[in-house]
Amino acid sequence: MGLSKPRVRFAPSPTGQLHVGNARTALYNWVFARRFGGDFLLRIEDTDIERSEARYEAQLLDDLRWLGLDWDEGPEARSDEGAYGPYRQSERLEIYREHTERLFAEDRAYRCFCSAEHLDREREQAVVAHLPQVYSGRCRNISREESAARAAACEPFAVRLKIGPDPIAFHDIVRGAVEFAADAVSDPILVRSSGMPVYNYVVTIDDALMRITHVIRGDDHLSNTPKQVAIYHAFGWPVPEFAHLSTILGPDKTRLSKRHGATSISTFREMGVLPEALTNYLALLGWGAEGGTRETFTMPELAAEFTLERVTPSPAIFDFNKLHWLNRHYLKLAEPARILELARPSFVAQHWLPDPSTAEVDAWFLQLLALFLPGVDQLDQLPEKARFIFAVDQPAAMANEENAAVFANPSARAVLEAFAARIAALPAPVTAEAFKTVMNEVKAATGAKGKDLFHPVRIALTGAHSGPEFDKLVPLIEAGSALALPTPVLSVRQRAEMFLAALPPV
Ligand code: GLU
Repeated sequence: MGLSKPRVRFAPSPTGQLHVGNARTALYNWVFARRFGGDFLLRIEDTDIERSEARYEAQLLDDLRWLGLDWDEGPEARSDEGAYGPYRQSERLEIYREHTERLFAEDRAYRCFCSAEHLDREREQAVVAHLPQVYSGRCRNISREESAARAAACEPFAVRLKIGPDPIAFHDIVRGAVEFAADAVSDPILVRSSGMPVYNYVVTIDDALMRITHVIRGDDHLSNTPKQVAIYHAFGWPVPEFAHLSTILGPDKTRLSKRHGATSISTFREMGVLPEALTNYLALLGWGAEGGTRETFTMPELAAEFTLERVTPSPAIFDFNKLHWLNRHYLKLAEPARILELARPSFVAQHWLPDPSTAEVDAWFLQLLALFLPGVDQLDQLPEKARFIFAVDQPAAMANEENAAVFANPSARAVLEAFAARIAALPAPVTAEAFKTVMNEVKAATGAKGKDLFHPVRIALTGAHSGPEFDKLVPLIEAGSALALPTPVLSVRQRAEMFLAALPPV
C-alpha cells in the first residue's frame, strides 16, 4: 500500500435509491479508510443528466449518514468540502474538457467522425465474421489537419483514446492479477458526439486528480477497468490499487433484486432495522475476520479489523434470516429510550398513543416495549404484536377455530364467571400477585386446571391462547387502562366481562 495514507471514494450516481450492494461498497470504503487512518471521499457521479435527480442525492446523503458512514470530503462533508472539489461531476465538466485538449495535444486521442449507422454496420459485420465487436479504428489515421478542419466545419465527432497493442494488466486485491487483451478494449470513446464525457473517462480523471489510492467498487465495473487503466497510462498517472467486490445474490442464487424482498437502505430503515445491524450484516457479506466465526461487529470493531485481503471473490448470498438475527441482537442492546423514539410513530399512526406524548405514557410504552420487543425481528412488527393491548377483536377471537374449541368446553364459562366475579371485587389496578391469587381461587372453585383454567382467561385478555406471561401482561394492561389514551385500553375486568357476555347461552 505504500507509506502514504490511503484515499478511497464512494462514487454513487444519484439515479435511484441506495441499495444494499452499493451500501456495502460504501461501507467497505469507509472501514478501509478508518482502519488505515485514510480519507473517505464522497463523489456524486451525476453526468447522466436525464436520470440524475437532486432528491436522490439528498436521500443518498441521508442514508449514508444514517448508516454512520461519514465522509471526509465531498458534498456537505464534516468539515469543509475538501481540497479536491468540486465533488459533483456535473460541476467538473471544464476539468474534463481541459484534459481532452491535453490528450489531443499529446496525440493520445483522436476525433472519430463515424456515424452511429456506420458503427452498427461494423458491429453486424463482426458478428457475421465471428470477430470481436470492437471499433475498426477507421478514424485513427485521419490527419490532424483534416480532423481539425472537419471539426471546424461542425461535423459531429466523438473523442476516442488510442490504445496500444499490448494487453492491459492490473492488480486487483480481491481477484489477483487481471489481464485483458488490447483488442477486447479497442479505442474506447471518451467523449460522446453530444459533448458529454463518458463514465470511464471522468471516473479516471477524478480518481487521479482526487489522489485516490484504492478503488473499491462492485465487480460490475471489472470489465471497465482496463479502459480506465489505459486512460491512466495515456496521462502518465500512477494506477491505483483495485478491489472489485463480488455480486450480491438472492437466496435463489440470482442477482439480488426487489423480487427477493427489501433491497434499498431506506426500506430497511422504514422496517425498523437498526443501522448497526445492517452495517454488521453488510460487512459480513463477503468479508470475515481473521480465523473467526465471529458474527457481531460494531463499527469501531470493523474499523479495527477490516482488511481487503480477506474479502472473498465468490458471490455473496443475501440471507434475510441472518439480518433479522443480527437486528434482534442489536434491538436487545439498544437504549430503550432510542427504541421508544423509533417505535412511537407507528403507534401514533394507529391512534393508540397520543402525540405529543407525556412522561407517564412514555413510561408505560417502555413497559410495553420490554414485553414485545424480544418477539420481533424488526420494529415494524411491533404494532401487530401489541395490537390486542389496544384493540381485542372479540368476535374474531371467538370465531377462531382453536379458541372456539376452548369455549365449547362448558368449564370455560364457569372459569370466566368465577374469574370476572373475583376481579370485579378487587380494587384497580389488579396486580400480578392479586391475579395469581384469583387464578388459584378460580381453580379451587371450578376444579378446572392447566389449559382448561388458563386458556379461557388468556383468550379473554389477549384474544389468543398463547402470548406473553401473565406476570407482565396483567400489570401492563392495568396500567394502560388507567391512562388517557386516544384508544382506551380495556382493563382486565372489562376484558373478562366482554368475553363472558359474548359466550353463547347455556
Ligand atoms: N457511478 C458509478 C456507479 O455508481 C461508480 C463506479 C465506480 O465506483 O467507479 O456504479
